[in-house]
Amino acid sequence: MSSFRKRALDEFATHKPERFFVENQPVSQYFGQNVFDVEKMRRYLSAEAFEAVQAAVNEGLKIERGVANQIASGMKAWAVEMGATHYTHWFHPLTDATAEKHEAFVDPSKNGGVFENFRGEALVQQEPDASSFPHGGLRNTFEARGYTAWDPTSPAFIIDQTLCIPTVFVSYTGESLDQKTPHLKSLQALDKASVELVQMFDPDVKRVNSVLGIEQEYFLVDEALFRARPDLMLCNRTLLGHTSAKDQQLEDHYFGAIPSRVMAFMKDFETEAYKLGVVLKTRHNEVAPNQFEFAPYHAEANLSVDHNLMMMILMRKIAKKHKLKVIFHEKPFAGINGSGKHCNWSMVTDKGTNLLSPGKTPGKNLQFLSFFVSVIRAVYEHHHLLMASVANLNNSYRLGGNEAPPAVMSVFVGRTLSGVLDSIEQMSTNHVTEKEIDNRMNVVGKIPEILPDNTDRNRTSPFAFTGNRFEFRAVGSSVNVASSMYILNAAVAQQLTRFRKLAQARIAKGASQNEALLETIREFIIESKLIRFEGNGYSKEWHEEAISRGLKGISNVPEAYKAYLEENSINLMKETDILTVREVEARFEVMNEIYLKKLQIEARVLGDLTINHIIPTAIKFQNSLIQNVVGIKELFGPEKYKTMSERQLVAIEKISGYIQVLREDFHGMIEARKSANQIESYSERAMVYSNTVLPYMEKIRRVVDKLEMVVDDELWPLPKYRELLFLR
Ligand code: ADP
Ligand code: MG
Repeated sequence: MSSFRKRALDEFATHKPERFFVENQPVSQYFGQNVFDVEKMRRYLSAEAFEAVQAAVNEGLKIERGVANQIASGMKAWAVEMGATHYTHWFHPLTDATAEKHEAFVDPSKNGGVFENFRGEALVQQEPDASSFPHGGLRNTFEARGYTAWDPTSPAFIIDQTLCIPTVFVSYTGESLDQKTPHLKSLQALDKASVELVQMFDPDVKRVNSVLGIEQEYFLVDEALFRARPDLMLCNRTLLGHTSAKDQQLEDHYFGAIPSRVMAFMKDFETEAYKLGVVLKTRHNEVAPNQFEFAPYHAEANLSVDHNLMMMILMRKIAKKHKLKVIFHEKPFAGINGSGKHCNWSMVTDKGTNLLSPGKTPGKNLQFLSFFVSVIRAVYEHHHLLMASVANLNNSYRLGGNEAPPAVMSVFVGRTLSGVLDSIEQMSTNHVTEKEIDNRMNVVGKIPEILPDNTDRNRTSPFAFTGNRFEFRAVGSSVNVASSMYILNAAVAQQLTRFRKLAQARIAKGASQNEALLETIREFIIESKLIRFEGNGYSKEWHEEAISRGLKGISNVPEAYKAYLEENSINLMKETDILTVREVEARFEVMNEIYLKKLQIEARVLGDLTINHIIPTAIKFQNSLIQNVVGIKELFGPEKYKTMSERQLVAIEKISGYIQVLREDFHGMIEARKSANQIESYSERAMVYSNTVLPYMEKIRRVVDKLEMVVDDELWPLPKYRELLFLR
């Protein structure tokens, strides 16, 4: 057996699970221990500094320099006590990864030695340069500087003895270079639009927060086996590999007993997560073998996103201790389920009312419906852009498959609410009498208080209402979900404002408030009817119907990205003040650049594997067959050998055919890349890569996977799916 694969398999077989590193005390004792949260602020800050942070968090007020110094000094005192030696501004560039540049607290002191130092300026703003991150042309020459600025709404935390300060990342000229900035802006826009509408029902509401609960799916693979696969090492997915005879058919992994090795990892991870103030709630086996999920309790959206990114960092670190590799890639293995990051999304007022929760009275339900239909209307209006926001190379291997969100957007609301929406739609609009309005209110009042448990579940819908929230299911498992959330928030903010204005215009014309609201709800229901779909989102019929409804799906990633440049999308970003045209264009370039570069890397790795691993192996095996046939001929003579070796000869010929095709496709793929690389613009090059390079990759894989089925197992160089996928 290839020494690399053999060594990895031996290591895997003899691995002794780590003992658990679990704290021997109740979680509540150490929860939040590594976070500079309100409780620590109270302890380490002056009253003035404490008030300033609270005002910044709750009212978005600016923090004065002098106060910033006090805050920094308190933060440092806490961090140093906790053993931290460094601090870093922690930001989220356009790569889906997080970024950090550490600075030591210590400064040299005049009389020799050092002292620990952390000033207000260092807390509030840094210039990490960081010019190598993708910026889509926003950082050319004179304006090349990039700044990080403290986001006080997300508390600082300690990982690896380093104080991490969540920040935004912007250019010298103020353009956003990250995912957090537009997300924060979209939360403001949503807050403003929601408050204005909700005040028609309850004038006391001052603030509306978006709330997010993120379910994270992931795979775990033994580290030694992972390392024996160059494709996993460099691309985080298998570019080759025949499916295992048994994988997920029996559904015996899903919700099954968690393998003990994985359990050890989970417990260790959870302990550290609790220390970081993340309320992990759920853990379970997912559908595919070696696939798992965790979900924290929902929290304010910005914090939720930060927590999710922190957890991804943490999981990678903890997995290492257990000789495991975490794979966040959306489709690491062909033929079995891929991973997503379901975003459970709702809006909550400062009085604790969930605006997406149906109420008990007709009045409350009118408020619920106003928000509910505005969300549906928003998804309809920007369905194309929302779908584009989840498109990337990784997700493209998954989207449209029979396991993942369909390639076209739709909204599922469930039978009860469909019925309500339909009956409102059917109401007549002429000569509305008081009595009729009462009747209508009664219809609205009939929405039972729907508990999340008894809403019907439709797992095939990319955007489903689940009782008191919407669940956006198309988002990929490896991404920073802010990149989709800011589009959703912006789209909803836009429709909420539109809804309010239309209702107010009706009132100005003499309608009663209830009548105006009902009419506007009806208008929105009619306008957005085409996006509603209750059936099987995976079916071919739906795909055809979606097209006939005029819904735009995505079939190709660079094509999908063009949705960002559509007038409707640009206007949305401008209107809600989330991104300027220039920023949108920059993001468009960056997305194409990343798509292209990832695809290029995959093509290179696949080429290397084919030429240097697979073809030599096929030849070796073929030679053994040839020797065998030659031997038979020698022994039994030229007459008898023919009938005896008939099948062997066919096999030899077949392998020759495979090798020949692989060489041809390998060269074809290189030529396709060469010619595409001539193209200057990232977006055009990405398109050509997708149309010309990708098909070669698919062809090569098909042939290699066939070879895997015929070549002697002893000779095969790469760990196989059946070896990679079953941790115990
Ligand atoms: P599922 O049944 O969809 O797999 P999970 O229990 O795995 O659900 O995760 C549901 C997620 O939704 C959790 O993060 C949970 O806190 C979150 N959630 C529950 N209610 C709301 C809400 N009103 N708004 C936002 N998120 C919510
Ligand atoms: Mg869910």
